[in-house]
Amino acid sequence: MSRDYYEVLGVPKGATEAEIKKAYRKLALEHHPDRTQGDKVSEEKFKEINEAYSVLGNPEKRSQYDMFGHNFERMGINQDDIFGAQGTASIFDDLMGDVFSDFFGGRRNSRNRKVRGKDVESILELAFEEAVLGTDKEFTIKRTGVCSVCGGTGAKQGTKPTPCRTCDGSGQVYYRQGFLTVTKTCHACGGSGLEIQDKCRDCSGTGRVLKEEEISIHVPPGVDNDSVLRIQGKGSAGYNGGSSGDLHVVIKVKEHPVFKRDDQNIIVDLFITYSQAVLGDTIKVPTLYGDEDLRLPSGTDSGKEFVLKHKGVISPYDRRKGDQLVRVHIEVPKHITERQRQILKEFDEISVDEGKNASKGIFNKVKDLFQ
Ligand SMILES: [Zn+2]
Ligand SMILES: [Zn+2]
Repeated sequence: MSRDYYEVLGVPKGATEAEIKKAYRKLALEHHPDRTQGDKVSEEKFKEINEAYSVLGNPEKRSQYDMFGHNFERMGINQDDIFGAQGTASIFDDLMGDVFSDFFGGRRNSRNRKVRGKDVESILELAFEEAVLGTDKEFTIKRTGVCSVCGGTGAKQGTKPTPCRTCDGSGQVYYRQGFLTVTKTCHACGGSGLEIQDKCRDCSGTGRVLKEEEISIHVPPGVDNDSVLRIQGKGSAGYNGGSSGDLHVVIKVKEHPVFKRDDQNIIVDLFITYSQAVLGDTIKVPTLYGDEDLRLPSGTDSGKEFVLKHKGVISPYDRRKGDQLVRVHIEVPKHITERQRQILKEFDEISVDEGKNASKGIFNKVKDLFQ
């Protein structure tokens, strides 16, 4: 049964906050492990003082304690709240400054603390259409999981880890440096506070193994290159029962021979013949949603852009759909037959006669400038 907290701190029931704080400071320094060199009685006393102050130093907890006494722990207050390593450490940092923070900093990383596993990254390559239209994918990732043979303890089946003999199971070693006691992570156990006599063969005593895992993922329509999809809990396993990290799936979209993407718009470069440009035509244009008829008016210039409304990409953010932009280019043939050459020559001659040849027009304009 715990002693009365007021008695522990040696203050009357009606003590002011300042009086409680002052009493605590005095006692904590007196019984601090730095001064008492591992004396077990003092260590217990030091714990008791901290526990008392963590309650009486907090007005809310103090009033509950005044009402319910030690039973207040059962009134929905978790023991960690009262004497959690972190809680004590912050009280200490406030009161004592940095001198002892190392000591308590060490406690914060004590072996019982749950630590969340790391996030891991995986790259998922998608075809252009898959990224635009969305898809369901299954792929294999490698992630660190808890060893199923030893259940994460690292000890051979049927055995258990024992407290580390170097650090007495605390995971920390202390040494003096002038006035200060400095703490370091125990090199023998790496801070775990545990020693393994017979290592688990499956994980070489680490308690963790690299596992391959099949992952199913729904890729929403509209993701782009370097989009990141987060899958909760599929990262590395946590320590001491901590939750697993997340998996970040980085999307890489393969280039498409026809479609290019500009945010929510799709760009298609379309090559037409000179006569199609001059005479006009109706041509089939591929879109991500099937072929569309595009009517080229007669006299279409090279470089002209046509818009196919709502044939673009759905935005994963606001669900708006972009357009497809069709850029028309006149393809100049590299090889022509003798008959084609003859006809083009004739065409050119007629054009000059009628003063409609664009290049001749420019030539004449340049000549004009120098006259
Ligand atoms: Zn194992
Ligand atoms: Zn150790």
